Order: sequence, then C-alpha cells, then structure tokens
Amino acid sequence: MNSKHPETLALHAGWRRDSATNSVAVPIYQTTSYQFDSAEHAANLFGLKELGNIYTRIMNPTCDAFEKRLAALEGGVAALALASGQAASAMTVQNLARVGDNIVTSTDLYGGTWNLFANTLKDQGIEARFVDPSDPEAFARATDDRTRAYYAETLPNPKLVPFPIAEVAKIGRSFGVPLIMDNTAAPLLVRPLDHGAAVVMYSTTKYIGGHGTSIGGAVIDGGNFDWEAHASHQPAMNTPDPSYHGAVWSQAAKPLGPIAYILKLRVTLLRDLGAAMAPFNAFLFLQGLETLPLRMREHSKNTLAVANFLAERKDVKRVIHPAYHSGVGAERTAKYLPHGQGGLCGFEIAGGVEAGRRFIDALQMFYHVANIGDARSLAIHPASTTHSQLTESEQAATGVTPGYIRLSIGLEHIDDILGDLSQALDAAKG
Ligand code: PLP
Repeated sequence: MNSKHPETLALHAGWRRDSATNSVAVPIYQTTSYQFDSAEHAANLFGLKELGNIYTRIMNPTCDAFEKRLAALEGGVAALALASGQAASAMTVQNLARVGDNIVTSTDLYGGTWNLFANTLKDQGIEARFVDPSDPEAFARATDDRTRAYYAETLPNPKLVPFPIAEVAKIGRSFGVPLIMDNTAAPLLVRPLDHGAAVVMYSTTKYIGGHGTSIGGAVIDGGNFDWEAHASHQPAMNTPDPSYHGAVWSQAAKPLGPIAYILKLRVTLLRDLGAAMAPFNAFLFLQGLETLPLRMREHSKNTLAVANFLAERKDVKRVIHPAYHSGVGAERTAKYLPHGQGGLCGFEIAGGVEAGRRFIDALQMFYHVANIGDARSLAIHPASTTHSQLTESEQAATGVTPGYIRLSIGLEHIDDILGDLSQALDAAKG
C-alpha cells in the first residue's frame, strides 16, 4: 500500500486478505502456537534467521496486521502491540536503560507514567530526571553519559500544551539520546517521527480503540536512530546480550531492516515480561483504526466548538484548549497541531471545588469516568477524584486548580454536547 493518506492506510495497510480463506476482515487467530514446517524451520525462527510465528506471547497474525497498519499510519518501520499503555511506557524505557542509567522526562505526564518513572523504575535502578517542557534546553542540562532516552507526551493533560518535539529530539540526537513520545492524545494529528522522535508509544485504550472497550498499548520504531553511531550512549543496543546467545542488537537486526529497537523489545522484554496483547483486542483495535481519521476530525471539530462555547460563559473562568493558548503555547499549537487540536478540553468553573462537584453531578449525557478518547463525551473533576490525594499546591503544579474540569469530547451531535454542558453549568451555580 503506497498511499500516503491516513484514510486509505487505516483501511488497507498491512493486510489484503487471509491467505488460507480469502477473508477480507482480519481473522482473530485465537491460537497459542504454530506448527513448524520442519526442524530446520523451527531452528531458523528461533535463531532469527527468518521471521515467523512461534508462540502468541511473542507474535500473532491478528496482532501483526494491527502492528503493520499502525506502523504505516505513524510513518515508522515496525510496531509492537502490548497489553496496555502502561506496559508500553515501561518497556520503551527498559529496552534501553539498565541499573544505574537514567532518562530525562517531561514533568507533564499521565499520573500512571509519573508513578512508573518516579517509583517503580527507580526501584529497578533507573533514575527518571523530571524537567519542565516549556524549556527544551532543560533536557540538555539534565543529560549525562548515563542518559539513555528522553520521554514526553505530545499533548499532556491538564495543561494541553503541545510538547516541543523537534526541538528536544534535535538536542537528544546531538547526545546520542533518542526521544520517545507518548502520542496517546493526538494520533494522526501529529506524527512525532516526522519531527525527529525515534520511538512512539500509545495507550491504544484511548482514541485508537475509540469505543472504550479494550485496554491495549503499542510501540512504533521510527527506524531513524543510528544506534551503532552512539555505541557508548546506547550499550543495550551495542553490547552482546547474554539472553540471546550474545546477540548485539544493532548488528543482529541489520538483515531484517532498521528495526533493532523493536526487534530487541519483542524478542527479549516481551518474551520475558509477557505483557502481550490478546488477538481479540488486536481485532478490536483494527476496527478502531479503520475510522480513526474520521473520528479524530470529528473529535477536534466538536472540541473546538466546546472551547468556543465555554469561552463565552460568565461562569467559566478559564478555558484550557490548544487553540486558547497565548505566547509559546500558541506557537507550539500552530507548529504541531495545525489541522486539528484533538478531543480534550479543560475549563475552570467559577465557584471552585463545590461548583465542580455540582457540575459533574448535574451532567445527564456526559459520562463521569476516568478515561479519555471514547466515542462518548466524558468528564471528570480532578480535584475531587484523580488528584484528591495531592495538596492544593501539588495540584496546582500539575495544572489542576480546585475548579478545573477535564472534558473528553465525543462524537455526539454538537447541539446535544453543548446542551448538556449548558444545563450542568446552570445547575452548578447552586
Ligand atoms: N499514556 C497516557 C497519555 C494515558 O492517558 C494513559 C492512560 O490513561 C496511559 C499512558 C496508560 O495507558 P493504559 O491505561 O492503556 O495502561
């Protein structure tokens, strides 16, 4: 499929028909294992002399179709489906960093990723150095010769300021440090690999699935980072791996293409940690991908209409949406999100915590859930839920004020979305 258009790739990339049945839809290959053709075939597969199905923990044809389609949409060379976004975040880092190493990460992260980096990876001997993404040079200042990766989210909530991908990727490349981007909130709206990122990860749970049915994650290898050229900064890719007969991944992958990063991730970390995506979920994510270009356009359109509506309300103190930033935030929106700003919008309701609670309780159509990226509209009041364990100043540091409401705008008719928001705002006045 040589189209460059996401609408076409979402329907055709990575799959034409089932070789056994001619099925057009990707079948759910609900199998654990695969019959080898011969002893030699089996040995070749295990020895990575040829790529093929061995065992569903490591690869599966339904997952494979999903991985190929996602890699094509993202402009990458190969992808790996995983059990959740959390598994993807952890493994993107563990693939490069070992005990005593560090990563430099943006402070503006999903709370689960923050915990993973600040606590679990720390316990595993990997230090996460948190820096403010408003200053790209902060990444350079935090880098030393044990820095193995940079990490950031494209469109982190609650602040919803696009991350300076090109600026930080360039700094990283000067040190031999690849940038890993969590693009969960902005699939198709931004392709981080086009801006110099080396690796992209997703919680496919959100927009890629799109219907709030399945937990999943994915990693996409840009194939655009020269691991060999940075041997001293990237020892995991350039020193013999005792878990695979001393394979040096930057070398071993060469006959298969520029896929050293994702090959190592699949055949070592996925093999050992086992967070595989189930074939049934890969099928559902393929369904999601088919309409992703359409949905991202509609999410963006409805969400901008919501932001404009909220900006007119006297009981709304502030609107947080990529199109409503000024200064550097506005420049980043213009650079990274010119064709649509995504489905997330925040606002600060007059009347603080109590008004926030009343607003949430008055919603009739919006669901009150801790998720984003569903086809349905969702709302949450972080100060009384996700962030309630933090002090008010800690909340403020993350961008959450007492009256802050996060909306994930769905695909309902805009009149119904605005109608529900309007009546809930009226009810919140108390
Ligand atoms: N990254 C971002 C930006 C998220 O919003 C989430 C989940 O909310 C995750 C990662 C984790 O993904 P999952 O819930 O699929 O493990």
